[in-house]
Amino acid sequence: MKRTKIKDIFFNPVIDSEYTVCGWVKTRRSSKKVSFVEINDGSGPQNLQVVVDNALVEAETLKKITTGTAVRISGMVVKSVGIEQPIEMQARRIEILGEADAETYPLQKKAHSYEFLREIAHLRFRTGIFGSIFRIRSAIAFAIHKFFQERGFFYLHTPIITGADCEGAGAMFQVTTLPLNTVPMQNGKPDFGQDFFGKPTHLTVSGQLNAELAAMGLSEVYTFGPTFRAENSNTSRHLAEFWMIEPEMAFYELEENIQLAEDLLKYLLQYALQNCREDLEYLQKHVEDNDDLIETIQKVAEADFIRLEYTEAIEILKNSGVNFEFPVAWGCDLQSEHERYLVEKHFAKPVIVINYPKEIKAFYMRLNEDGKTVRAMDILFPGIGEIIGGSQREERYDKLLRRIHELGLPEAEYWWYLDTRKFGSVPHSGFGLGFERLLLFITGMSNIRDVIPFPRTPGNAEF
Ligand code: ATP
Ligand code: MN
Repeated sequence: MKRTKIKDIFFNPVIDSEYTVCGWVKTRRSSKKVSFVEINDGSGPQNLQVVVDNALVEAETLKKITTGTAVRISGMVVKSVGIEQPIEMQARRIEILGEADAETYPLQKKAHSYEFLREIAHLRFRTGIFGSIFRIRSAIAFAIHKFFQERGFFYLHTPIITGADCEGAGAMFQVTTLPLNTVPMQNGKPDFGQDFFGKPTHLTVSGQLNAELAAMGLSEVYTFGPTFRAENSNTSRHLAEFWMIEPEMAFYELEENIQLAEDLLKYLLQYALQNCREDLEYLQKHVEDNDDLIETIQKVAEADFIRLEYTEAIEILKNSGVNFEFPVAWGCDLQSEHERYLVEKHFAKPVIVINYPKEIKAFYMRLNEDGKTVRAMDILFPGIGEIIGGSQREERYDKLLRRIHELGLPEAEYWWYLDTRKFGSVPHSGFGLGFERLLLFITGMSNIRDVIPFPRTPGNAEF
């Protein structure tokens, strides 16, 4: 008999008819005559309770049906007599697909720490919490494409290996096939002429520069792919490999850029509320300190995001009376403690900070008339800090070139980027949304390592 997913049985059960389900055993409780076996197949947070007449299977087989065992069960779906679940299955036939030795299976039915579960990331998909997290991750990835495709944006694939040592967003991982123990040298330096690409290459930190090129022909594009940062920042908000969504739009100025970012975030939150309800409820119930998860998402989805000049943000922080670890002065970058003060204490709403000093932002951001600030915008979220970083780009050739010179960047390497400012240059804007930071907010999890299947962080590349 064809397998039915457990989620579909709960969604639309035909009572008193026969189904076949497959899944992994969560628990078995046995009395003399019957056993209750709870199974889950990952299709949703709900376990199906299967009632097994102990006479149905050999005693030896019954003993093997322990937590983690994979089974295929056929039986009648009936209204449950218990109040805990609306339906249950009366088993007619049970087949063990794969045993899980009760002595050595690491995921016993008890609360495990997230740290421990990271060490067994190959098995944590089987837990209720991680099942919910990764179903939500999948749903939101789909919603991102839906949002942009509905608006006529084109999905652009930007290279993962980049020869542009000039993205300027953070430390990079080098990509090389040179033999590390006998690197060919020239004038005391590695001879990258002999390397695979004939020059130094790295893993990309952002698809932005490439996306800008595409926007100068396709108008509105977005990327959604992995990016890499070799920063040694061991925080609960940083990964060495993370996924970023980077829309880039011709004919958008800063305000239109901000509006798009706000619309995107709200759309994704509403999408989660409407399409991931059961998983959100599960996480609200089972993750500690997560009782107000759904309410928090709702509030932000309906909030008017605050727009705040960087200069005003500095004033607010200075007048806060708080003794910050990093002192506040005009020109300093906002640290996470500052961001969280603004969002959580002062405004209690998401905050969009605009017009930052040019010194603390990337070379490609458009210079304001004051000559001191650039048209940057960072969106700060409660519990997260920076979730989006973006800007209007400098489209004026001479201004861009001057900035490249001021920063001592290698002009020649930017020839293709500068070309777009020479030929048919237009105002344009874009931003980067950190996918895992968004998922932290939506799931209420507190460590970014728990919203990506296999986290890469300093010292960690297992699985
Ligand atoms: P931060 O200041 O938080 O380190 P950033 O300013 O270096 O971030 P950007 O280069 O602006 O980050 O990247 C755009 C977005 O990508 C950020 O707003 C954030 O959501 C996400 N992001 C950046 N670095 C990381 C990282 N190491 N791990 C996960 N997400 C990240
Ligand atoms: Mn940023």
